[in-house]
Amino acid sequence: MFEPLQGKTVIVTGASRGIGKGIALRFAAAGLNTVVVSRSLAEAEAVAAQAGAQAIGVAADVSTPEGCAAMVAAAVARFGGVDILCANAGIFPAAKLAEMTVADFDHVISTNLKSTFLSVQAVLPEMEKRGQGRVVITSSITGPITGYPGWSHYGASKAGQLGFMRTAAIELAPKRITVNAVMPGNIATEGLDGMGADYIAGMEAAIPQKRLGSVADIANAALFLASNEAAYITGQTIVVDGGQVLPESPAALEAM
Ligand code: NAP
Repeated sequence: MFEPLQGKTVIVTGASRGIGKGIALRFAAAGLNTVVVSRSLAEAEAVAAQAGAQAIGVAADVSTPEGCAAMVAAAVARFGGVDILCANAGIFPAAKLAEMTVADFDHVISTNLKSTFLSVQAVLPEMEKRGQGRVVITSSITGPITGYPGWSHYGASKAGQLGFMRTAAIELAPKRITVNAVMPGNIATEGLDGMGADYIAGMEAAIPQKRLGSVADIANAALFLASNEAAYITGQTIVVDGGQVLPESPAALEAM
C-alpha cells in the first residue's frame, strides 16, 4: 500500500482539458490540494470545480516567467507551498518542414520546452523550503522515440524536455527533488473528438493492446512518480503507450 499524499499541493499545467485535466482530477481524488493551470481562467476553474473543494483554477501562460511566477504565487497564497509540479502544458500544431515558419517553430518550442524550464525554475524556491519535491514532465513517444510527418518542431520539443530533465535531475538531487517524465503514446482526449471512427480505428490498429490510452493511464503513472515510494527514481522516463513503440515493422502487428 502506498503512503497517502493527502494534504500535499500539486500544480498541474495545461490542466483545463485532455491529459492535464486527467492528472488534476486523479491527484485531487487522491486528496491533494490541486492547482489547475491554463491560459483560460474559466476553463481552469471549471476543472477545479469538478476536482472538489481542495482545488483552484489559475490563468497563466507558462511560456512566460511572469505566468509561471503567478501560478506559484497562487498556489502559495491558497495552499501555503508547492510539493509537486506536473509540467504538462503542450501544443501540437502540424506543419511540414517546407512550410514551417520560424514563428511556428518558436511557438511550439516556447510552449512545450521553454515552459518546462520556466515552470521548474519557478517552483524551486517552494520545493527547497519543503526540503523535497517532485517534478513530473509530460513528454511523448513522438520525438524521443518515434517521428510523425508535420511534427518535427513538436518532436524536438518533446525530446528536448528529456535532455532538460536529465541535467535538472542531477542538479536537484541534493535538494531531494526528483525530476522524471511520462511518455504517452496515443491518448484519447477531447482533441480526437470529430476525427472520425476510421481515423481512431487506424490508430488503434497500430497499438498491440488495440486501444488508445486513457488520460487515467497517464495520470496513474504521474501519481506513481509523485509518490513517496518513487523517492529514489530520478531522471527517468515511463513509456505509457500500450506497446505502440514495440513492433519493429507492420509485419510484427500482422503476426500477432
Ligand atoms: P490538450 O487537450 O490540447 O490540452 C492542452 C492544455 O495545455 C490545455 O489545458 C491548454 O489550455 C494548455 N495550454 C496550452 N498552451 C498553454 C500555455 N502557454 N500556458 C498554459 N497552458 C497552456 O493537450 P493534450 O493532448 O492533453 O496534451 C497534453 C500534454 O500531453 C502535452 O504536453 C502533449 O505534448 C502531451 N502528449 C499528448 C498526447 C496525446 O495523445 N494527447 C500524446 C503524447 C504526449 P489553454 O489553451 O486554455 O491554455
